Amino acid sequence: MRVTGSVARGLLVDVHSHIYTPRLVELLRRRASPPCISSTDGQETLRTSRDSGEGKGSAFGPQFWQRSNKVAFMDRHRIDASIVSVADPCLDFLPPEEAVEAARVINEELESWCLPPASSSDSEDMPSSVFSAGDARTAFRAAVPNSSRIRAFGVLPFANEAVPVAAVTSQLEAIHKSTSLRGAVLSTKGLGKGLDDERLEPLWECAERLEQPLFVHPHGDGTAPTSSADGGLFGLRSSGATLPLALGLPFETAAAAARLIVSGVLDRYPRLKLILAHSGGALPMLSSRLAWCVSQEADIRARLKHDVRYYLGQLYFDALCYGPEELELAVKIVGRAHKHRRGGPGIYGTPKRGSQEEQEEITAGARRFLFGTDHPFFPPLASESSESSAEAPIWQSASTNLQALHAVASFTAHERDLIAGSNASTLFGFS
Ligand SMILES: [Zn+2]
Repeated sequence: MRVTGSVARGLLVDVHSHIYTPRLVELLRRRASPPCISSTDGQETLRTSRDSGEGKGSAFGPQFWQRSNKVAFMDRHRIDASIVSVADPCLDFLPPEEAVEAARVINEELESWCLPPASSSDSEDMPSSVFSAGDARTAFRAAVPNSSRIRAFGVLPFANEAVPVAAVTSQLEAIHKSTSLRGAVLSTKGLGKGLDDERLEPLWECAERLEQPLFVHPHGDGTAPTSSADGGLFGLRSSGATLPLALGLPFETAAAAARLIVSGVLDRYPRLKLILAHSGGALPMLSSRLAWCVSQEADIRARLKHDVRYYLGQLYFDALCYGPEELELAVKIVGRAHKHRRGGPGIYGTPKRGSQEEQEEITAGARRFLFGTDHPFFPPLASESSESSAEAPIWQSASTNLQALHAVASFTAHERDLIAGSNASTLFGFS
């Protein structure tokens, strides 16, 4: 079934939305290998880290850097607010000192990018038609009087081990003091050794103390073939970037989150606001297998306060999994996390279908999920673009996830509203 318009009734907030700032574009244009921006016959191509193998890259145009383009996308899909972030959030292609300076400049650019141009009036930036749908939008507009519908995750100077962690925490402190930035997008690579690196403890302490959300976003380069003779995990034959994109990125996120859990970071910093891209990747589906394997390792078992499944209830997830069954499953798995607290019920049955217990678990899980689109990746196909000359095409990448949210029969309007925008509105201070 095709979706031709928004089906959201309450607030709709996009927490997974990308942009490239001028300094980042300048740095990438200087490079010849991914991540880079190359130009052929006047057409620029963005190749992200995952495009180091057979990936063709993305046509690089205003949708990647122009604020008005982002606002038009939001209006077309009735998205009330967005939290934008740079894709590929690692600066490891720069020397340490340059990475620290680049993060500072990119954050300044993000800060000004979020704000409407001085000449723009409220009505231009926030069309009243968007807010005619209901009380939630009216209240939102009242709460955001300057029409600032866009916030951003800042960038941290994640490059390599030579970057002092104090440079990372001081950047997060600067983000905390800014007007439009809300937390940071985190590379799974950390300072070259991943997110369970002991050197990152001050970052977790700082993020928890300042209540700054951290968005864990993958790169996909770890599974890319290293040469034409090396098929890597996903092979080379005809799949192009598809398998690294579909499977590699989510596995990378799942591994990063599992490393945070088993290293005890979520025990030491239980109030961290970590958001996992792509619905946590494979983590929800594999969480009982992870728990089983941990149960066989005395060292890890002794280190953790709870069964690993408990920690899923401390995490946030974007709702970017493209299917209602997958979304429902992930929400239910996160919603049962409380059962895995140490001293919990042990062996238990799933809640009876339609029972109050089932609904309570679904609501608990839904409180941890946030709508996202991954715009401007996955643009409309050429056939979709030519359907209507009167209006810009609906991006199926956005509407598919919205449709999935509304197609989960076990969700009530309450759960749908939580995931569509209510959770994000609270988490990012829109309300
Ligand atoms: Zn993304």
